[in-house]
Amino acid sequence: MNQVSEHIVIVGGGAGGLVLATLLGKRLGRKGKARITLIDNSLTHVWKPLLHEIAAGTLTSDGDSVNFLSHAKDHHFRFVQGEMDGLDRHNRQILLAPVRDEIGDEVVPARSFDYDKLVIAVGSTANDFGVKGVRENCVFLDNHHQADQLQQRLLRDFLRAEMQPEPLAPGQLQIAIVGAGATGVELAAELHRAARSLVAYGLDQIDVEKDIGISLIEAAPHVLPNLPERLQKATENQLEQLGIKVLTGEQVTEITKDQIRTKSGNTVNADIKVWCAGVRGPMFFEQISGLPMNRVHQIEVDETLKVVGEDDIYAIGDCAACVLPGSDEPVPPRAQAAYQQAYALAATFSTGSAKRFVYKDYGSLISLSYSAVGNLMGNLFGKVMIEGMLARLTYLSLYRKHQLSLHGLRWLILNVVATLFMRGTRPELKLH
Ligand SMILES: Cc1cc2nc3c(=O)[nH]c(=O)nc-3n(C[C@H](O)[C@H](O)[C@H](O)COP(=O)(O)OP(=O)(O)OC[C@H]3O[C@@H](n4cnc5c(N)ncnc54)[C@H](O)[C@@H]3O)c2cc1C
Repeated sequence: MNQVSEHIVIVGGGAGGLVLATLLGKRLGRKGKARITLIDNSLTHVWKPLLHEIAAGTLTSDGDSVNFLSHAKDHHFRFVQGEMDGLDRHNRQILLAPVRDEIGDEVVPARSFDYDKLVIAVGSTANDFGVKGVRENCVFLDNHHQADQLQQRLLRDFLRAEMQPEPLAPGQLQIAIVGAGATGVELAAELHRAARSLVAYGLDQIDVEKDIGISLIEAAPHVLPNLPERLQKATENQLEQLGIKVLTGEQVTEITKDQIRTKSGNTVNADIKVWCAGVRGPMFFEQISGLPMNRVHQIEVDETLKVVGEDDIYAIGDCAACVLPGSDEPVPPRAQAAYQQAYALAATFSTGSAKRFVYKDYGSLISLSYSAVGNLMGNLFGKVMIEGMLARLTYLSLYRKHQLSLHGLRWLILNVVATLFMRGTRPELKLH
Protein backbone atom coordinates (compact mmCIF):
# COMPACT_ATOMS: atom_id res chain seq x y z
CA MET A 1 0.00 0.00 0.00
CA ASN A 2 1.24 3.48 -0.83
CA GLN A 3 1.59 5.44 2.43
CA VAL A 4 0.86 9.16 2.12
CA SER A 5 3.95 11.02 3.35
CA GLU A 6 3.86 13.82 5.91
CA HIS A 7 3.30 17.34 4.54
CA ILE A 8 5.70 19.97 5.94
CA VAL A 9 4.72 23.50 5.00
CA ILE A 10 7.16 26.39 5.45
CA VAL A 11 5.76 29.91 5.17
CA GLY A 12 8.39 32.52 4.27
CA GLY A 13 11.36 31.83 2.00
CA GLY A 14 13.90 34.23 3.53
CA ALA A 15 17.26 33.76 5.23
CA GLY A 16 15.82 30.93 7.37
CA GLY A 17 12.86 29.51 5.40
CA LEU A 18 14.54 29.05 2.03
CA VAL A 19 17.57 27.34 3.59
CA LEU A 20 15.21 25.02 5.50
CA ALA A 21 13.14 24.17 2.40
CA THR A 22 16.33 23.46 0.44
CA LEU A 23 17.73 21.17 3.17
CA LEU A 24 14.44 19.31 3.62
CA GLY A 25 13.96 18.98 -0.12
CA LYS A 26 17.35 17.31 -0.41
CA ARG A 27 17.02 15.13 2.69
CA LEU A 28 13.33 14.16 2.60
CA GLY A 29 11.58 15.42 -0.53
CA ARG A 30 14.02 13.77 -2.94
CA LYS A 31 13.49 10.36 -1.31
CA GLY A 32 9.71 10.75 -1.03
CA LYS A 33 9.94 10.66 2.79
CA ALA A 34 7.93 13.86 3.16
CA ARG A 35 6.23 16.44 0.96
CA ILE A 36 7.79 19.85 1.39
CA THR A 37 5.95 23.03 0.38
CA LEU A 38 7.33 26.54 0.62
CA ILE A 39 4.89 29.46 0.51
CA ASP A 40 6.06 33.04 0.01
CA ASN A 41 4.25 36.20 -0.98
CA SER A 42 6.95 37.02 -3.51
CA LEU A 43 8.13 35.02 -6.54
CA THR A 44 11.78 35.66 -5.77
CA HIS A 45 14.10 35.48 -2.78
CA VAL A 46 16.57 38.26 -2.09
CA TRP A 47 18.83 37.90 0.96
CA LYS A 48 17.59 40.65 3.30
CA PRO A 49 21.05 41.94 4.40
CA LEU A 50 21.48 43.11 0.78
CA LEU A 51 18.50 45.46 0.89
CA HIS A 52 20.47 48.61 1.71
CA GLU A 53 22.63 48.00 -1.39
CA ILE A 54 19.55 47.47 -3.58
CA ALA A 55 17.97 50.65 -2.17
CA ALA A 56 21.13 52.60 -2.97
CA GLY A 57 21.33 51.08 -6.46
CA THR A 58 24.78 49.59 -5.89
CA LEU A 59 23.24 46.13 -6.41
CA THR A 60 20.24 45.08 -8.51
CA SER A 61 17.52 42.90 -7.02
CA ASP A 62 17.14 40.87 -10.25
CA GLY A 63 20.87 40.11 -10.40
CA ASP A 64 20.97 38.71 -6.87
CA SER A 65 17.58 37.05 -6.59
CA VAL A 66 16.64 33.39 -6.49
CA ASN A 67 13.53 32.36 -8.42
CA PHE A 68 11.46 30.25 -6.03
CA LEU A 69 9.79 28.13 -8.73
CA SER A 70 13.00 27.06 -10.41
CA HIS A 71 14.88 26.61 -7.10
CA ALA A 72 12.03 24.41 -5.82
CA LYS A 73 12.09 22.24 -8.96
CA ASP A 74 15.85 21.69 -8.60
CA HIS A 75 15.65 20.97 -4.85
CA HIS A 76 12.68 18.59 -4.61
CA PHE A 77 10.12 20.82 -2.93
CA ARG A 78 7.01 22.60 -4.14
CA PHE A 79 6.62 26.37 -4.22
CA VAL A 80 3.30 28.17 -3.87
CA GLN A 81 2.97 31.92 -4.14
CA GLY A 82 0.67 33.30 -1.46
CA GLU A 83 0.45 35.64 1.48
CA MET A 84 -0.46 34.05 4.79
CA ASP A 85 -3.03 36.14 6.62
CA GLY A 86 -4.51 33.69 9.08
CA LEU A 87 -4.28 30.28 10.70
CA ASP A 88 -6.87 27.62 11.55
CA ARG A 89 -4.96 25.52 14.10
CA HIS A 90 -7.83 23.10 14.76
CA ASN A 91 -8.16 22.05 11.12
CA ARG A 92 -4.42 22.42 10.48
CA GLN A 93 -4.87 24.93 7.70
CA ILE A 94 -3.12 28.16 6.90
CA LEU A 95 -5.17 30.90 5.26
CA LEU A 96 -3.84 32.74 2.23
CA ALA A 97 -5.00 36.16 1.06
CA PRO A 98 -6.01 36.60 -2.60
CA VAL A 99 -3.08 37.18 -5.01
CA ARG A 100 -3.52 40.47 -6.86
CA ASP A 101 -1.74 41.96 -9.88
CA GLU A 102 -0.03 45.40 -9.97
CA ILE A 103 -3.32 47.24 -10.46
CA GLY A 104 -5.06 45.35 -7.66
CA ASP A 105 -7.13 42.89 -9.74
CA GLU A 106 -7.56 39.49 -8.13
CA VAL A 107 -5.49 36.81 -9.90
CA VAL A 108 -6.00 33.98 -7.38
CA PRO A 109 -8.82 34.02 -4.81
CA ALA A 110 -8.30 33.55 -1.04
CA ARG A 111 -7.41 29.92 -0.25
CA SER A 112 -6.65 27.63 2.65
CA PHE A 113 -3.80 25.19 2.67
CA ASP A 114 -3.44 21.94 4.67
CA TYR A 115 -0.34 21.01 6.68
CA ASP A 116 0.83 18.24 8.99
CA LYS A 117 3.72 20.32 10.29
CA LEU A 118 3.95 24.07 9.86
CA VAL A 119 7.05 26.27 10.06
CA ILE A 120 6.41 30.01 10.25
CA ALA A 121 9.44 31.92 8.92
CA VAL A 122 7.92 35.20 7.74
CA GLY A 123 10.59 37.53 9.16
CA SER A 124 9.91 40.90 10.75
CA THR A 125 9.02 44.48 9.93
CA ALA A 126 10.39 47.72 11.36
CA ASN A 127 8.53 48.92 14.46
CA ASP A 128 6.96 52.37 14.19
CA PHE A 129 6.28 52.38 17.99
CA GLY A 130 3.07 54.25 17.20
CA VAL A 131 5.01 57.46 16.38
CA LYS A 132 2.77 59.95 14.61
CA GLY A 133 3.25 60.27 10.85
CA VAL A 134 5.66 57.35 10.36
CA ARG A 135 3.37 55.13 8.24
CA GLU A 136 2.25 58.06 6.05
CA ASN A 137 5.60 59.80 5.49
CA CYS A 138 8.40 57.24 5.76
CA VAL A 139 9.85 54.67 3.46
CA PHE A 140 10.52 51.22 4.96
CA LEU A 141 13.17 48.67 4.08
CA ASP A 142 11.44 45.41 4.98
CA ASN A 143 11.51 43.69 1.58
CA HIS A 144 13.10 43.98 -1.84
CA HIS A 145 10.05 45.68 -3.40
CA GLN A 146 10.45 48.55 -0.93
CA ALA A 147 14.22 48.62 -1.60
CA ASP A 148 13.53 48.85 -5.37
CA GLN A 149 11.02 51.66 -4.79
CA LEU A 150 13.54 53.64 -2.73
CA GLN A 151 16.17 53.25 -5.46
CA GLN A 152 13.69 54.53 -8.08
CA ARG A 153 12.73 57.48 -5.90
CA LEU A 154 16.36 58.48 -5.27
CA LEU A 155 17.18 58.32 -8.96
CA ARG A 156 14.10 60.37 -9.85
CA ASP A 157 14.85 63.01 -7.18
CA PHE A 158 18.44 63.40 -8.33
CA LEU A 159 17.41 63.70 -11.99
CA ARG A 160 14.78 66.30 -11.09
CA ALA A 161 17.30 68.33 -9.07
CA GLU A 162 19.75 68.20 -11.98
CA MET A 163 17.17 69.55 -14.45
CA GLN A 164 15.39 72.20 -12.38
CA PRO A 165 16.30 75.81 -13.16
CA GLU A 166 15.57 77.14 -9.65
CA PRO A 167 17.79 76.54 -6.58
CA LEU A 168 17.16 73.47 -4.42
CA ALA A 169 14.34 73.81 -1.88
CA PRO A 170 15.04 73.19 1.86
CA GLY A 171 15.07 69.43 2.45
CA GLN A 172 15.52 68.60 -1.24
CA LEU A 173 18.23 65.91 -1.64
CA GLN A 174 18.24 65.58 2.15
CA ILE A 175 17.81 62.02 3.41
CA ALA A 176 17.07 61.22 7.04
CA ILE A 177 17.26 57.70 8.42
CA VAL A 178 15.63 56.93 11.75
CA GLY A 179 17.27 54.11 13.69
CA ALA A 180 21.03 53.60 13.80
CA GLY A 181 21.06 49.83 14.19
CA ALA A 182 22.88 47.77 11.56
CA THR A 183 20.25 48.50 8.88
CA GLY A 184 20.26 52.29 9.35
CA VAL A 185 24.05 52.57 9.59
CA GLU A 186 24.64 50.38 6.53
CA LEU A 187 22.01 52.25 4.54
CA ALA A 188 23.50 55.66 5.44
CA ALA A 189 26.99 54.62 4.30
CA GLU A 190 25.70 53.00 1.10
CA LEU A 191 23.58 56.04 0.18
CA HIS A 192 26.60 58.27 0.72
CA ARG A 193 28.52 56.22 -1.83
CA ALA A 194 25.58 56.01 -4.27
CA ALA A 195 24.95 59.78 -4.19
CA ARG A 196 28.56 60.47 -5.06
CA SER A 197 28.55 57.88 -7.85
CA LEU A 198 25.36 59.35 -9.33
CA VAL A 199 26.89 62.80 -9.48
CA ALA A 200 30.05 61.32 -11.00
CA TYR A 201 27.87 59.88 -13.81
CA GLY A 202 27.33 63.41 -15.04
CA LEU A 203 24.77 65.09 -12.78
CA ASP A 204 27.16 67.99 -12.43
CA GLN A 205 24.59 70.67 -11.54
CA ILE A 206 24.51 69.05 -8.09
CA ASP A 207 27.22 70.05 -5.62
CA VAL A 208 27.93 66.82 -3.73
CA GLU A 209 29.21 68.44 -0.54
CA LYS A 210 26.75 71.32 -0.35
CA ASP A 211 23.52 69.92 -1.78
CA ILE A 212 23.35 66.35 -0.51
CA GLY A 213 22.84 65.59 3.17
CA ILE A 214 22.37 62.34 5.05
CA SER A 215 21.28 62.35 8.70
CA LEU A 216 21.08 59.35 10.99
CA ILE A 217 18.83 59.75 14.03
CA GLU A 218 19.00 57.42 17.02
CA ALA A 219 17.26 57.50 20.42
CA ALA A 220 20.06 55.62 22.22
CA PRO A 221 23.27 57.46 23.24
CA HIS A 222 25.31 55.71 20.51
CA VAL A 223 24.83 54.13 17.10
CA LEU A 224 24.55 50.31 17.01
CA PRO A 225 23.00 50.23 20.52
CA ASN A 226 23.24 46.43 20.85
CA LEU A 227 26.91 46.15 19.94
CA PRO A 228 30.10 46.67 21.99
CA GLU A 229 31.30 50.21 22.72
CA ARG A 230 34.47 49.84 20.65
CA LEU A 231 32.40 49.02 17.59
CA GLN A 232 30.05 51.92 18.24
CA LYS A 233 32.96 54.37 18.48
CA ALA A 234 34.71 53.01 15.38
CA THR A 235 31.46 53.24 13.40
CA GLU A 236 30.69 56.77 14.60
CA ASN A 237 34.20 57.85 13.55
CA GLN A 238 33.79 56.40 10.09
CA LEU A 239 30.33 57.92 9.61
CA GLU A 240 31.70 61.28 10.69
CA GLN A 241 34.55 61.00 8.19
CA LEU A 242 31.97 60.38 5.45
CA GLY A 243 30.17 63.58 6.46
CA ILE A 244 27.03 61.78 7.65
CA LYS A 245 25.30 63.76 10.39
CA VAL A 246 24.79 61.46 13.37
CA LEU A 247 22.18 62.62 15.92
CA THR A 248 22.17 60.29 18.92
CA GLY A 249 20.05 60.59 22.08
CA GLU A 250 17.25 62.01 19.91
CA GLN A 251 13.87 60.36 20.26
CA VAL A 252 11.61 60.98 17.27
CA THR A 253 8.13 62.13 18.28
CA GLU A 254 6.55 63.08 14.96
CA ILE A 255 7.18 62.89 11.25
CA THR A 256 5.52 65.24 8.78
CA LYS A 257 5.77 65.45 5.00
CA ASP A 258 9.03 67.42 5.16
CA GLN A 259 10.30 67.20 8.74
CA ILE A 260 11.35 64.94 11.54
CA ARG A 261 10.69 66.29 15.04
CA THR A 262 12.37 65.00 18.18
CA LYS A 263 11.56 65.12 21.90
CA SER A 264 14.38 67.58 22.59
CA GLY A 265 12.81 70.07 20.16
CA ASN A 266 15.18 69.40 17.27
CA THR A 267 13.86 69.32 13.70
CA VAL A 268 15.48 67.74 10.66
CA ASN A 269 14.30 68.77 7.18
CA ALA A 270 14.31 65.89 4.77
CA ASP A 271 12.53 64.97 1.60
CA ILE A 272 13.25 61.26 1.95
CA LYS A 273 12.71 59.75 5.38
CA VAL A 274 13.55 56.09 5.94
CA TRP A 275 12.30 54.31 9.05
CA CYS A 276 14.75 51.59 10.16
CA ALA A 277 14.01 51.49 13.90
CA GLY A 278 13.02 48.43 15.89
CA VAL A 279 11.87 44.96 14.94
CA ARG A 280 8.40 43.47 15.35
CA GLY A 281 6.42 40.50 14.07
CA PRO A 282 4.42 41.09 10.86
CA MET A 283 1.10 42.93 11.20
CA PHE A 284 -1.05 39.90 10.34
CA PHE A 285 0.16 38.16 13.52
CA GLU A 286 -2.26 40.43 15.39
CA GLN A 287 -5.13 38.56 13.71
CA ILE A 288 -3.89 35.10 14.68
CA SER A 289 -5.44 34.09 17.97
CA GLY A 290 -4.11 31.40 20.26
CA LEU A 291 -0.39 31.56 19.46
CA PRO A 292 1.78 32.88 22.30
CA MET A 293 3.45 36.18 21.38
CA ASN A 294 5.79 38.57 23.15
CA ARG A 295 5.11 42.30 23.35
CA VAL A 296 6.56 42.98 19.89
CA HIS A 297 4.41 40.25 18.32
CA GLN A 298 7.07 37.61 17.83
CA ILE A 299 5.89 34.01 18.34
CA GLU A 300 7.28 32.37 21.46
CA VAL A 301 9.13 29.12 20.78
CA ASP A 302 10.94 26.66 23.04
CA GLU A 303 14.52 25.45 22.63
CA THR A 304 13.46 22.98 19.92
CA LEU A 305 11.89 25.90 18.00
CA LYS A 306 8.40 24.50 18.55
CA VAL A 307 5.74 27.11 19.30
CA VAL A 308 5.01 27.01 23.04
CA GLY A 309 1.89 24.90 23.68
CA GLU A 310 1.65 23.57 20.10
CA ASP A 311 2.57 20.12 18.76
CA ASP A 312 2.89 20.75 15.04
CA ILE A 313 3.82 24.41 14.64
CA TYR A 314 7.35 25.80 14.66
CA ALA A 315 8.74 29.30 14.11
CA ILE A 316 12.25 30.40 13.09
CA GLY A 317 14.11 33.60 12.30
CA ASP A 318 13.06 37.16 13.09
CA CYS A 319 9.40 36.27 13.69
CA ALA A 320 10.32 33.87 16.53
CA ALA A 321 10.95 34.87 20.15
CA CYS A 322 13.46 32.28 21.29
CA VAL A 323 14.87 32.68 24.79
CA LEU A 324 17.24 29.79 25.40
CA PRO A 325 17.61 28.19 28.84
CA GLY A 326 20.28 29.98 30.90
CA SER A 327 19.89 33.22 28.95
CA ASP A 328 17.71 36.28 29.66
CA GLU A 329 18.08 37.68 26.19
CA PRO A 330 16.19 36.38 23.15
CA VAL A 331 18.22 35.10 20.19
CA PRO A 332 18.85 38.29 18.15
CA PRO A 333 16.99 38.96 14.88
CA ARG A 334 19.88 38.24 12.56
CA ALA A 335 20.48 36.28 9.39
CA GLN A 336 23.03 34.09 11.18
CA ALA A 337 20.40 33.12 13.79
CA ALA A 338 17.77 32.32 11.12
CA TYR A 339 20.34 30.23 9.26
CA GLN A 340 21.37 28.27 12.35
CA GLN A 341 17.73 27.67 13.27
CA ALA A 342 17.03 26.35 9.76
CA TYR A 343 19.82 23.79 10.20
CA ALA A 344 18.59 22.79 13.68
CA LEU A 345 15.01 22.28 12.46
CA ALA A 346 16.16 20.39 9.37
CA ALA A 347 17.97 17.99 11.73
CA THR A 348 14.80 17.57 13.82
CA PHE A 349 12.61 16.78 10.80
CA SER A 350 15.10 14.53 9.06
CA THR A 351 16.02 12.43 12.11
CA GLY A 352 12.57 12.45 13.71
CA SER A 353 13.96 13.44 17.11
CA ALA A 354 13.76 16.98 18.45
CA LYS A 355 17.11 18.77 18.28
CA ARG A 356 17.80 21.49 20.83
CA PHE A 357 18.79 24.73 19.22
CA VAL A 358 22.05 26.26 20.46
CA TYR A 359 22.80 29.75 19.20
CA LYS A 360 26.42 30.43 18.34
CA ASP A 361 27.22 34.12 17.98
CA TYR A 362 29.99 34.45 15.40
CA GLY A 363 30.15 38.21 15.92
CA SER A 364 28.76 41.18 14.06
CA LEU A 365 29.93 42.87 10.92
CA ILE A 366 28.69 46.23 9.77
CA SER A 367 29.21 47.23 6.16
CA LEU A 368 30.21 50.86 5.69
CA SER A 369 30.10 50.63 1.91
CA TYR A 370 33.74 50.40 0.80
CA SER A 371 34.83 49.39 4.28
CA ALA A 372 33.38 47.53 7.27
CA VAL A 373 33.82 47.18 11.02
CA GLY A 374 33.01 44.26 13.23
CA ASN A 375 33.98 41.74 15.79
CA LEU A 376 34.47 38.05 15.27
CA MET A 377 33.97 35.45 17.95
CA GLY A 378 35.78 32.15 17.88
CA ASN A 379 36.94 29.44 20.27
CA LEU A 380 40.56 30.06 19.36
CA PHE A 381 40.90 33.83 19.74
CA GLY A 382 37.86 34.88 21.77
CA LYS A 383 36.46 38.21 20.60
CA VAL A 384 38.52 40.03 17.93
CA MET A 385 37.71 43.43 16.48
CA ILE A 386 38.37 43.85 12.77
CA GLU A 387 38.17 46.87 10.49
CA GLY A 388 38.80 47.94 6.89
CA MET A 389 39.39 45.54 4.02
CA LEU A 390 39.60 42.40 6.18
CA ALA A 391 36.22 43.23 7.74
CA ARG A 392 34.78 44.01 4.30
CA LEU A 393 35.95 40.65 2.89
CA THR A 394 34.59 38.79 5.91
CA TYR A 395 31.29 40.64 5.48
CA LEU A 396 31.11 39.64 1.79
CA SER A 397 31.84 36.01 2.74
CA LEU A 398 28.59 35.89 4.78
CA TYR A 399 26.51 36.24 1.62
CA ARG A 400 28.66 33.65 -0.12
CA LYS A 401 27.96 31.28 2.79
CA HIS A 402 24.23 31.81 2.30
CA GLN A 403 24.58 31.11 -1.43
CA LEU A 404 26.62 27.99 -0.66
CA SER A 405 23.85 26.58 1.52
CA LEU A 406 21.30 27.19 -1.26
CA HIS A 407 23.20 26.23 -4.40
CA GLY A 408 26.24 24.13 -3.44
CA LEU A 409 29.95 24.59 -4.09
CA ARG A 410 30.06 24.10 -7.88
CA TRP A 411 27.43 26.81 -8.46
CA LEU A 412 29.22 29.14 -6.04
CA ILE A 413 32.58 28.83 -7.79
CA LEU A 414 30.98 29.42 -11.21
CA ASN A 415 29.08 32.42 -9.83
CA VAL A 416 32.21 34.00 -8.31
CA VAL A 417 34.06 33.57 -11.63
CA ALA A 418 31.10 34.93 -13.64
CA THR A 419 30.81 37.94 -11.30
CA LEU A 420 34.50 38.74 -11.78
CA PHE A 421 34.12 38.57 -15.57
CA MET A 422 30.93 40.66 -15.57
CA ARG A 423 32.54 43.43 -13.52
CA GLY A 424 33.45 46.26 -15.83
CA THR A 425 30.64 45.44 -18.26
CA ARG A 426 28.02 47.14 -16.06
CA PRO A 427 27.83 50.58 -14.46
CA GLU A 428 28.71 50.72 -10.74
CA LEU A 429 25.23 51.93 -10.03
CA LYS A 430 21.75 51.03 -11.26
CA LEU A 431 20.88 53.97 -13.52
CA HIS A 432 17.34 53.10 -14.56
C1 LIG B 1 19.54 46.31 5.40
C2 LIG B 1 19.68 45.12 6.33
C3 LIG B 1 20.96 44.66 6.66
C4 LIG B 1 21.10 43.54 7.49
N1 LIG B 1 22.36 43.09 7.75
C5 LIG B 1 22.51 41.96 8.48
C6 LIG B 1 23.82 41.43 8.71
O1 LIG B 1 24.82 42.00 8.27
N2 LIG B 1 23.94 40.29 9.44
C7 LIG B 1 22.84 39.64 9.94
O2 LIG B 1 23.01 38.58 10.59
N3 LIG B 1 21.59 40.12 9.75
C8 LIG B 1 21.40 41.27 9.05
N4 LIG B 1 20.13 41.77 8.84
C9 LIG B 1 18.98 41.09 9.46
C10 LIG B 1 18.58 39.87 8.61
O3 LIG B 1 18.32 40.27 7.30
C11 LIG B 1 17.36 39.19 9.20
O4 LIG B 1 17.59 38.89 10.56
C12 LIG B 1 17.05 37.89 8.46
O5 LIG B 1 16.81 38.12 7.08
C13 LIG B 1 15.84 37.19 9.07
O6 LIG B 1 15.58 36.03 8.35
P1 LIG B 1 14.10 35.43 8.30
O7 LIG B 1 14.19 34.16 7.53
O8 LIG B 1 13.53 35.39 9.66
O9 LIG B 1 13.24 36.50 7.51
P2 LIG B 1 13.46 37.17 6.09
O10 LIG B 1 14.81 36.91 5.56
O11 LIG B 1 13.00 38.56 6.23
O12 LIG B 1 12.41 36.38 5.17
C14 LIG B 1 11.03 36.44 5.39
C15 LIG B 1 10.33 35.88 4.15
O13 LIG B 1 8.94 35.75 4.43
C16 LIG B 1 8.16 36.25 3.36
N5 LIG B 1 6.90 36.70 3.94
C17 LIG B 1 6.71 37.74 4.78
N6 LIG B 1 5.41 37.80 5.15
C18 LIG B 1 4.78 36.79 4.52
C19 LIG B 1 3.44 36.32 4.51
N7 LIG B 1 2.47 36.92 5.22
N8 LIG B 1 3.12 35.23 3.76
C20 LIG B 1 4.08 34.61 3.01
N9 LIG B 1 5.38 35.01 2.99
C21 LIG B 1 5.72 36.07 3.74
C22 LIG B 1 9.02 37.37 2.77
O14 LIG B 1 8.69 37.59 1.41
C23 LIG B 1 10.44 36.79 2.94
O15 LIG B 1 10.80 36.02 1.81
C24 LIG B 1 19.95 42.89 8.02
C25 LIG B 1 18.67 43.38 7.70
C26 LIG B 1 18.52 44.47 6.87
C27 LIG B 1 17.14 44.98 6.53
